[in-house]
Amino acid sequence: MAKTDACPICGKPPAGTHKPFCSQGCRDRDLLQWLGEGYRIPAGPLNVDEADSLPDGLDSRGSAD
Ligand SMILES: [Zn+2]
Repeated sequence: MAKTDACPICGKPPAGTHKPFCSQGCRDRDLLQWLGEGYRIPAGPLNVDEADSLPDGLDSRGSAD
């Protein structure tokens, strides 16, 4: 368990310049995964609902000034 040197995408031994990936291709794939997750994050509707249910006290505190 001491050595975990393996490409996180395909499990091959990483190559020097592409570490921790084994190749440019796996590097790109990892990046795409990150971007994909970003796009999946739901934006809007739920947050709006939360803001709407804030107690009145918090709201007047901001507009009092
Ligand atoms: Zn790989």
